[in-house]
Amino acid sequence: PTPPARPVIRQLDEAAINRIAAGEVVERPASAVKELVENALDAGARRVEVTIAAGGKRLIRVKDDGCGMTPEELPLALARHATSKIDGSDLLAIHSFGFRGEALASLGAVGRLTLTSRVTGFEAAAIRVEGGRLGPVTPAALDRGTVVELRDLFHATPARLKFMRSDRAEGQALAEALRRLAMAEPHVAFSLRDATEGRDREIFRVDAETGDPVEALGNRLAAILGREFHDNALPVDGSREGLHLTGFAALPTYSRGAGVSQHVFVNGRPVTDRQLTGALRAAYMDYLSRDRFPAAALFVECEPHLVDVNVHPAKSEVRFRDPQAVRGLIVSTLRAALSGAGHRASTTVAT
Ligand code: ADP
Ligand code: MG
Repeated sequence: PTPPARPVIRQLDEAAINRIAAGEVVERPASAVKELVENALDAGARRVEVTIAAGGKRLIRVKDDGCGMTPEELPLALARHATSKIDGSDLLAIHSFGFRGEALASLGAVGRLTLTSRVTGFEAAAIRVEGGRLGPVTPAALDRGTVVELRDLFHATPARLKFMRSDRAEGQALAEALRRLAMAEPHVAFSLRDATEGRDREIFRVDAETGDPVEALGNRLAAILGREFHDNALPVDGSREGLHLTGFAALPTYSRGAGVSQHVFVNGRPVTDRQLTGALRAAYMDYLSRDRFPAAALFVECEPHLVDVNVHPAKSEVRFRDPQAVRGLIVSTLRAALSGAGHRASTTVAT
């Protein structure tokens, strides 16, 4: 028998590389929305409007009033590893959500993407990309900011398309991702509309909060997590070793069983971190039985070099230089707030 042909090494083309990378960056419509809204926030937007159809599978449109891009920049924005946010010299000094320069290239590889943008003093322009192939830059009509329109997500990757859940489930995950981003940006207005089959239904909307940071955050959390959470939560504030913690944590009487809202943000970035939620739990140890979970929205701020955000392409995980210090900060700040509220906790009716 003839031996099997020896495999040859070949360089993949750009489109294939982008599709592979897209698998990590864009898992489902919710991750596409996260990337696009983070771009809008990085661009300094004050208003972010999201429109979807079929749970984001048919259409995701994100419109912002941020700084925009010039016509010449449009093709570059869609190129892989092209970013305006870092110069590559210091990966530990990241002040923006983005820095990998991958999201738009990835989205353009797995969906039909149109980018329309305008910088004050320039003409508005648009560019289309499909299957990783860029079209020409064309004149467009837009008064300011950027509109990214993503249609037919994963049409180019049928395997991934099969993993999509129902329109309803994808739409809910997407709305959840947007709400989470909105929690950390009280001064920005957000809206989500459903335009499936010519409909135009508002799914949710939060107006920009004014006022001091604690009040603005409180109002935004009330709008997203509910008045009840806000009325049963304590503002927290603590610092140590260059780390700062703010946010709101629920009174023990407002605890829940499984499925509770626990939201942790690091430098404005929503993160999923077992250690951080573990610290939250530890803080409530004396107040809650094992089957109860405290609702909280916590915001850790620190110098960028104290935390590595370049752990995973979706950037939902972070690594602290000193995890014990973060844990200590959360536990001590929450305990201080809870013990100070002891009298309130005992007079609040459990819900
Ligand atoms: P990253 O956000 O990591 O830089 P992206 O692929 O998400 O990578 O975006 C590439 C570049 O396109 C950004 O660095 C930015 O300069 C530009 N860009 C993307 N979205 C917007 C937007 N909504 N407004 C202005 N510029 C944008
Ligand atoms: Mg980005």
